[in-house]
Order: sequence, then structure tokens, then C-alpha cells
Amino acid sequence: MSAKSAVLYRDLHKDPYTIAGASGLYLRLSDGRPIMDGSGGAAVSCIGHGDERVRQVIASQVTQLDYCHSLFFSCDPSENLSRTLIDSTSGNMARVFIVNSGSEAMDAALKLARQYYMELSPPQPQRTRFIARHGSYHGNTLGALGISGHKSRRSIYEPLLSPNVSHVSVCNAYRGPEEQETTEAYVERLARELDREIQRVNPATVCAFVAEPVVGAALGCVPSVPGYFKAMKAICDKYGVLLIFDEVMCGMGRTGTMHAWQQEDVIPDIQTIGKGLGGGYVPIAGLIAGHRVIETLDTGTGQYIHGQTYQAHPMVCAAALEVQRIIEEQDLVNRARDMGRVLETKLKAAFAAHPQVGNIRGRGLFWALEFVKDRETKESFDPALAVAMTIHNEGILQTPGIMLYPGTGSADGRKGDHIIIAPPYTITAEEVEMVVVAAQKAVDSAIKRLLQ
Ligand code: PLP
Repeated sequence: MSAKSAVLYRDLHKDPYTIAGASGLYLRLSDGRPIMDGSGGAAVSCIGHGDERVRQVIASQVTQLDYCHSLFFSCDPSENLSRTLIDSTSGNMARVFIVNSGSEAMDAALKLARQYYMELSPPQPQRTRFIARHGSYHGNTLGALGISGHKSRRSIYEPLLSPNVSHVSVCNAYRGPEEQETTEAYVERLARELDREIQRVNPATVCAFVAEPVVGAALGCVPSVPGYFKAMKAICDKYGVLLIFDEVMCGMGRTGTMHAWQQEDVIPDIQTIGKGLGGGYVPIAGLIAGHRVIETLDTGTGQYIHGQTYQAHPMVCAAALEVQRIIEEQDLVNRARDMGRVLETKLKAAFAAHPQVGNIRGRGLFWALEFVKDRETKESFDPALAVAMTIHNEGILQTPGIMLYPGTGSADGRKGDHIIIAPPYTITAEEVEMVVVAAQKAVDSAIKRLLQ
């Protein structure tokens, strides 16, 4: 074993590069070499790195109140953050629960959905089943992974703890529609599939349908086709099934609206949020519960039976609130939409004719390139080639380096390599150009090396 690190990294044989600092769009390696954070980590960094206002808020919050147990106490930061989040839904959602990671937020959402049926009058305790989508990733705890449909992330841990889960097709304009199938017919087919699945498992046992409005790391920034979520919501309503949106990656302004569902004309019963909530300054995520769920708990036991030691931590909430204030004051959600258009144009100019780029897709500042062996057949590369990871590595090695988020999707049993480009919302048009040029360099040298 050559690695010296005491940290248990993914690769036990090789220590990763050490990042010594960060500012704006840039990470800085310990040898001083800059790396453009072209994917904001995993679509986390939204106001850029090293913001002085957030630093000061963290320091003063720790001085004023470091910790109180939020099962028993309230504090201004968690109240103010939660109020800000409710307002950002135009009052369509009712209450907020803050935790430390997206996976915990997903587990909390699943438990809240289960509890909702226990609180109905009469209770429906048999409603324990979740339906998610093939290829999906909803987190790494056994609960969140248990509902995920991402085969390679699940397989080593199977059997998972959640046998009451099944999966339906994801909506993917690139790989989903059959030849000559119209968008309307495609949507109808997917809605029928959900309907049939609910019927198959028995509608009286289904708790919730879980989906990402724009699929993130699992498949690479896949938005749904128009009308898809309205059709899925109609099926949920037909059977009294809750709709949970996982916005851990695509939420908090990333797609050009504060919540991705605001572009779908559909309001979820529960949504999760994460990454962009704290912008990387603090580990924070959460759920936002809708009125139907909260009113049911209200008239039931009057309790949410779930809690964690570090829920709604004062410092974490204060930092996230400051990040959200900066986003509001600097109009960064609209900026994400506008810079997203610049990014889209430049990505298409750079990669539309690339023989190994099968699809360029995304929304707002959340874009991905999917790599294929053959554009005609859309055949993916052999996973053993590790195309996305090789591109990522090439990006880090060049100067300036670039961080591109690599992914290998496996929806519908297919392997597919993609990289995600999701820079902070503060990025300028010139920096977008630099990101695309650096991405092009990384892609070209990786593909050249792999296909030699
Ligand atoms: N849900 C989605 C859509 C994600 O992309 C992720 C993480 O990448 C999670 C949940 C889990 O979040 P975390 O890694 O913060 O636990």
C-alpha cells in the first residue's frame, strides 16, 4: 500500500491531491496550482469560494451560540432560514426540517411520508412501499440507497434494508422515446407504467413516488420532457400516493429557479434540498413539507417523530441563511439562468460535432455531456475504460486544472459515461468560456489517450 493518508479515502492505494485554499471559482492545490471548480464540487458551490460575509457570520454565530439541542429549543438562525425557505416556495410548502446531509434529508423525508399515513384518520399502516426510478441516486444511507435504482451504487450492499421498493423508467429524452414516438405519447407511456406498477403492487400499499426533477449525478443533468411530472402527479393523486421530489442536487437555484419543481407546474408533498443550501460553507440539507402532510400531522399526534443531535445546528443554519441572502441580494438565481444560456451555447459550439459526445443536456447552470462509442447507435463505452473518470483526471492534471464531476449512469441496465459542468452562479461569461475551453482540453486528451 503506497498511500500515507490517515483518512479512509475511496482509493486506498493513492492519496488524492491536497487542496490548500479556495477563492471565487478557483480551488488552489498545495503546490499553488489553480483548479477551476467547473462543477462546484458536486453542484455544491453556488456563491463561489471564500466569501467574507459567510466567514464573518459563522464566526459571530459561534461566539453568540455554538449549540443547542433543536429537539428541545428553537433559535433565530433556524427560524429565519426556515421562514426564508418557505417564502421561496411562495407559501406552497409549510414546514422545514434541517439536517446535515442529503442522504439524511432523504431518510427524513421517507419517514415523514410513512408517518403521514399513520396519522390519517383512519390510519393506513400498510402504505409502506416506495416507487422510485431506474438509475436514480437518492443518497448513501441504507434508507436513501434502498430506494435508489442505481445498480452499481446498490449492488455491493444488497440485499438492502428496504424490500418495499420498486422502480419505473426514468424520463430521458435522449434514450427514452421509441422511434417516431411523440413527446405526448412518451409521457403517456411513462404515466401508464407508473399506473401499472401501482396496480401491480397494490395501490393500498404505496406510500410515495420519489423522483429528481432534474436527474443529477446518477445520469448527468437529465431534465424531464414537458408534461411528464404533471402526468406522474395525476397518477399519484389517482391513488392517494405522495409525491417526493429529491432536489438535493438540482435545487436551490441551480436550474434557474429556486426550486426545480417551479418549472414543472407541479407542487410536491415533500421535497429535499441540500448542496446549494449551504453552498459548501457548512454541511447542511433538509426537507420542506407541504401543507397536506403538515396538516395531517397537526390534527393527528401533533408530532414529527424523528430527530437528530445536530438537526438545525445554529451555526450551520446561520451560514446557510447568509448564503441565501447573498443569492437573493445579488439576484443569483436569475444569473444562474442567464449564465446557463451562455454555458449551453458554448458547450454546443464546442462539443456538438464531437464524435464521442452523444448528448449535451441540462438546465440553468447544471449541464452534462454524455459520451458514447457511436453516436448513431448511442452505444456506451465499456465501463472498464472509465471514460468519465479519465476525463476528470485529465482535467485536474492540466494547468489551469478543471474539476469536472464524473459519473457512470446505469438506468435501464445501460452503462453511460457523463461529466457534469455546474459552476457557481457567480461565474462571469469570460469564466464560462474558460471552463468550456478547459473541459474541451480534458475531453480531447482523455478520448485521444483511451482510443489510441
Ligand atoms: N440526492 C441526490 C439527488 C444527490 O445527488 C445526493 C448526493 O449526491 C444525495 C441525495 C445525497 O446527498 P449527500 O451526499 O449530501 O448525503
